[in-house]
Amino acid sequence: MSTLVMKFGGTSVGDAFAFAMVRDIVAEQARGGDRVIAVVSAMSGATDELTHGIVSAANGDKEIYHDVCNSLRERHVDVIAESIRDDATRDRLISIVDTLIAEYANLCASVHVLGEVTPRVMDAALSRGERLSARILAALLQQADVQSKAVDATDLIVTDQTFQNAAPIVQATRERISAHLVPLLDAGTTPVVTGFIAATQDGVTTTLGRGGSDYTAAIIGDALDADAVWIFTDVDGVMTADPHTVPEARVIPVISYTEVGELAYFGAKVLHPRTIRPVIEREIPVWVKNTFHPQRPGTRIVRDATNTHGTVKAVTMITGLSMVTIAGRGMIGIPGIAGRTFSAVAREGTSVLMISQASSEQSICFIIPTVSAKAVVHTLQEEMERELSRRDIDRIWADNDIVIISAIGTGMRGTPGISARIFGALGSAGINVIAIAQGSSECSISLVVTSADATRAVQQIHKEVINHGK
Ligand code: ASP
Ligand code: MG
Repeated sequence: MSTLVMKFGGTSVGDAFAFAMVRDIVAEQARGGDRVIAVVSAMSGATDELTHGIVSAANGDKEIYHDVCNSLRERHVDVIAESIRDDATRDRLISIVDTLIAEYANLCASVHVLGEVTPRVMDAALSRGERLSARILAALLQQADVQSKAVDATDLIVTDQTFQNAAPIVQATRERISAHLVPLLDAGTTPVVTGFIAATQDGVTTTLGRGGSDYTAAIIGDALDADAVWIFTDVDGVMTADPHTVPEARVIPVISYTEVGELAYFGAKVLHPRTIRPVIEREIPVWVKNTFHPQRPGTRIVRDATNTHGTVKAVTMITGLSMVTIAGRGMIGIPGIAGRTFSAVAREGTSVLMISQASSEQSICFIIPTVSAKAVVHTLQEEMERELSRRDIDRIWADNDIVIISAIGTGMRGTPGISARIFGALGSAGINVIAIAQGSSECSISLVVTSADATRAVQQIHKEVINHGK
């Protein structure tokens, strides 16, 4: 008998069909005698809609949140109507939907009057999505004769007061999880826990940050010392590339925690590495699997990579970027330019994705999201006013339509020749590389190209380096 945490993301509970898949996956495991804890996200898009409704209410619009209420009500009621046979259960669930949505509408109405929404109120509003989906899944399992109960993670996960991005308090959380979940599991009940949400010591609702349901699963897996955590999503696992860009992209069977971190940083939509740290540290296996094809093997995430010598595992791209350059001959040997540059960027609240400085010190360039480019260039021009007027710095400017492409794999560490293969692949396709960076962890090589070349560059690296390196 094993203890298994199964987390289902938004697309896995996106409609009645998806809910039925989830029900079957959980039911099969529970009937086999395992102790199963299901963790669910809100229906796909629900958290975005809830955000949009309440933010627009704060900004003075009182129509949008009503539309959000109607559309969310309809989506949940549709699932209930399509999948729940028993009249009493159906009515009970629909009245839960109405209550939770009415509470949300009240929050929006107050926010509209106040003209402002605090992070604390945001969390109260956003928590509705998970509360709804957990109750529906628990009812579906009951209907399939699996004893089940919806549990709000506000009773399980104790956090600090950093609303919208709260940090769990480990000991208190462990105690609550064992006090609440162990008796249920001992009684043969499958808890369906709301992902994403938690509460302060005083019971005020918080959330763990967007995409936080993975974190919920990992926290529970850690507290219960689970045998495995399965993260269910709508793809077959972690892929060698985005299949929209590279049709022949494949599932990566085993990937290390570090590599997942690099992938997430460099734009692949896999799980946020922070969120699975609790289980990785305990060496609890984490699997990423497809809700719609649960028999496929998926990807296993392990703590340390073994036997990956010389291999590049994945290639990603991040679009919507600009490259800011500070150039001037007078910069040579002047200490502090880089420091002042990045302090000024940080004051703008912009995070820098990549930096490169030529050793001749005649320019510094770095990559930031295009949305911040204008403001950053302006701030830097102010910061460097004196240097600009003295001509120590000639010019500060931004180039838009920039893409960062990253090749990722711990196997690159200490393996010569990989960058040669990457650049060879691009060179033979006539793709111009604007800048290059390799982190000293040697887990990834990043390069900058224009958006016109980006797709071809990713395809080229996938074809010549990943597929050939197999
Ligand atoms: N529903 C939340 C979100 O969309 C949490 C999650 O899906 O993991 O961010
Ligand atoms: Mg989600």
